Amino acid sequence: MPFNLSLAGRAAAGLKRSVPAIDRVNGRWLHAGGEQYLNFAGNDYLGLSRAPELQAASEQAARDYGVGAVASPLVVGHQAIHRELEAELCDWLGLEAVMLFSSGFSANQAVVKALLGKEHTLWQDRLNHASLQEAGLLSPARLVRFAHNDMAALEGRLRPSAGLIVSEGVFSMDGDTAPWPELVKLARQSGNWLMIDDAHGLGVLGNEGRGTLDEQGLAPTSVNIFMGTFGKALGVSGAFVGGSRALVEYLHNFGRSYIYSTHLPPPQAAAVLAAVRLVRRADDKRAHLRNLVSQFRAGVAALPLQLLPSATAIQPLVVGEEAATLALAAALKQQGLWTGAIRPPTVPKGSARLRITLSAAHTEADVQRLIDALHSAL
Ligand SMILES: *Cc1c(COP(=O)(O)O)cnc(C)c1O
Repeated sequence: MPFNLSLAGRAAAGLKRSVPAIDRVNGRWLHAGGEQYLNFAGNDYLGLSRAPELQAASEQAARDYGVGAVASPLVVGHQAIHRELEAELCDWLGLEAVMLFSSGFSANQAVVKALLGKEHTLWQDRLNHASLQEAGLLSPARLVRFAHNDMAALEGRLRPSAGLIVSEGVFSMDGDTAPWPELVKLARQSGNWLMIDDAHGLGVLGNEGRGTLDEQGLAPTSVNIFMGTFGKALGVSGAFVGGSRALVEYLHNFGRSYIYSTHLPPPQAAAVLAAVRLVRRADDKRAHLRNLVSQFRAGVAALPLQLLPSATAIQPLVVGEEAATLALAAALKQQGLWTGAIRPPTVPKGSARLRITLSAAHTEADVQRLIDALHSAL
C-alpha cells in the first residue's frame, strides 16, 4: 500500500478528529442523537440561516433558474442573479468590483496563487486561517509569518514593493481584531498590497455590518483586496473577493478556482442577496449580539479559565490540555449545551479551548444557562 492511513499517533495524542453526526442545526438550536442542544458552536452570528426571507428567495430562484448554475462563470454559468448579488455587494461596501466564489477557502487560494510569483513575498499573521496559510505554502512566493497582531515584528520584516500583506479582520479562533489603521499605514509606507479576510467581521461589525474596517473607521477601499464569506454571519455559504475592476478582471483570467469550478447555484446566490439586504438593516440584531457578549463576559469573568480579550461573537475559553477541554465540552453537553472543543493543530499546542460563539438568535436566558453550566462544571 503506497499510503499510511494510520491514525494511531493522532489518537494516542488525544488529537484524533471525527465528524459529529448532527441531525439539524441553526444559530440557536442543534439536534443530534435525538437530543436538542443550545448551539454555541456555529458561525450563524445573526441567526440568518433559517430566516424566512432567505428561504423564500432561495425557493423562488430554484423555480426561476433551476437548482444548479450549469457551468463555470466564464462559460455560461454567470447569470442575472449573480450579477444582482455582485452589484449589491459593491453598493454595500463601496467597492468598484467583486467576484463570487463557492467558498472562502477557494477564494483565498485563487488570490494568492494568481498574484504571487517567486519574486514576491507574502506576509501573514501567524494566526491567519488555514486557507491562507495553505495558499502561502502552495505558492512559490517567499513566506513571512509575523507574530500575531505584532506590527513592530511586521514592520521589521517588510521590504519595499515586494508583495502582499494579509490578515484577518476578526481572528476565527481568538475573536480579537487586527489593528487595521496600522496595517494600512505600513502597507502604504512600504508600497505593498494589503488584503483583509473578513470572514468573521462581515455582517457583525461596522455600520450596516460592513465589517472590521468600517468598525475601525476605515473604508473597505483602504485595502487592495477585500475578501468576505457568506457562510458565517450571512447564514449561507460561498465568498467574494472585491477591489478594483483591474484586480477582478485579472482574477477572472488567472483565478484558477474561479475559472475551473461550477458557479454558485442560483438559489444560493439569491439567498445571499436576501441576506445582504437583511444584514444592512440589522442594527437591532447587532446591538442584541453586543449585549449578549457583555453579559457572557461579565458572567464568566470569575471562572478559573482564561477568557481571551474579544469583543466579538467569538468568545474562546482557553483550557490548555486537550483532555480537559474535551471533558468540559462533554460536561456542558450533558446539560444540553453544545460548544466547540478546538485542539491543535487548529490552535497552538497547550492552548486547547472551548470556542464559544454567540448569535443574535440566542436569548439572555440562553446565555445565562451557559454561564451557570460553566460555573457548575468547573
Ligand atoms: C471560514 C473561513 C474561511 C473559509 O471560508 P469557507 O467559505 O467556509 O470556505 C476563510 N477564512 C476565514 C478567516 C474563515 O473563518
